[in-house]
Amino acid sequence: MPHEEDFAPDSEGLHEALRRLIEVRSQRGDPHVDPDSVLQLPSALPETGVGGRAALDVLAGPALEQASRLDHPGFLAHMDPPTPWMTWAATAWAAALNQNLLHPDTAPIARQLEGKVIDWLAPAFGMDGGHLVPGSTIANLTALWAARELTGARRVVISTAAHLSIAKAARILGLELVQVPADDQQRLRVDLLPDDLADAVVVLIAGTVATGAMDPLDLGHGAAWVHVDAAWAGPLRLSKHARLLDGIEAADSVAISAHKWLYQPKECGVVLFADAEPVHAALSFGGGYLAAPNIGLLGSHANTALPLAVTLLAWGRAGVAGRNEADMATGDRLADLVSDAADLELWRRPTTGIVNWRPRDVAATAVRSRLQDAWVSVADIAGHSWFRSVPVNPLADPQHVVNAVRRALTQR
Ligand SMILES: *Cc1c(COP(=O)(O)O)cnc(C)c1O
Repeated sequence: MPHEEDFAPDSEGLHEALRRLIEVRSQRGDPHVDPDSVLQLPSALPETGVGGRAALDVLAGPALEQASRLDHPGFLAHMDPPTPWMTWAATAWAAALNQNLLHPDTAPIARQLEGKVIDWLAPAFGMDGGHLVPGSTIANLTALWAARELTGARRVVISTAAHLSIAKAARILGLELVQVPADDQQRLRVDLLPDDLADAVVVLIAGTVATGAMDPLDLGHGAAWVHVDAAWAGPLRLSKHARLLDGIEAADSVAISAHKWLYQPKECGVVLFADAEPVHAALSFGGGYLAAPNIGLLGSHANTALPLAVTLLAWGRAGVAGRNEADMATGDRLADLVSDAADLELWRRPTTGIVNWRPRDVAATAVRSRLQDAWVSVADIAGHSWFRSVPVNPLADPQHVVNAVRRALTQR
């Protein structure tokens, strides 16, 4: 058998793989997870292979049929959306052509596509450029790195509701982390900001990870650099809820996770800069073998611009906004159901869709572990556990989730 056979399309193998994917995704998501199924794979690297079709067949059970169904009507849990079908095709194209955004030679068009996607998104945030990253953990690190390089900042000031990626970035960059208390709505306490911010990067959060709270984004005057962590709520800037992000246009940098509320496959995020040219120059390294300087943290990286470009072309701004607005309405509906129920408690009305709620009489964590056919996440807010329902699943049904919680409450 010639060894290069597997590098040409196996039309039948591909059709079968796609057929199985379509079959799984056409059924209502109700996976029966067998935790042992992966253990049934060989315990050591197999000496001889079984071939591509057989390997896909072996993995179809665990990887397709037993995957979490983020499109399930009962999935109102984490910041992980189901993805639109055209991103599946675009991701397969990207894997098959394997363009590397690092080199113009290996991505003559993909690099331009990345630039195009940035050009489409940046203006809504008052930014003039940026680049794609695998998510906001890397976007936040990149932005703080830029701030340190360009301003000599030595401290990062952030509220106690910050995502852990900020502490990580501060540690890596040798910046002191100053945590300002959050108020009872999880927003940064403006009155407790340090007076002198001349050596500080102020990080404001547009949608905190636990409750979706919005820091006031018009802060940070006098700071060396203002970064907005808009990992979660950034896309709302394109919607009728845009005003929630007023002030973001004054920031020096913005992080957005496209694999959250832009419904992208992982790993796709965006880091944007108000003045991208000096930032990219400061974050550039030109190895001798590189035809173009390597900008930012990543070396080789995938063409995640392709699924994002396909989605933005397919939907347009209005299509993205419509889906975010519908998800916001899902959050509101869940909040309504909870407020109307005597046995359930709502933490606060949602600001950016995320709903924190819990049964009145039973610990949230205990009920969550008994949930069947529905999923919520759990967040700690001021030392108390609450359900956290993130409405990023356009197929979610809040009533379904509430019913499942009720069933879990009755079977003690
Ligand atoms: C999700 C999130 C992050 C981290 O983003 P990833 O894309 O998971 O790396 C950072 N900040 C906030 C507020 C988030 O919600």
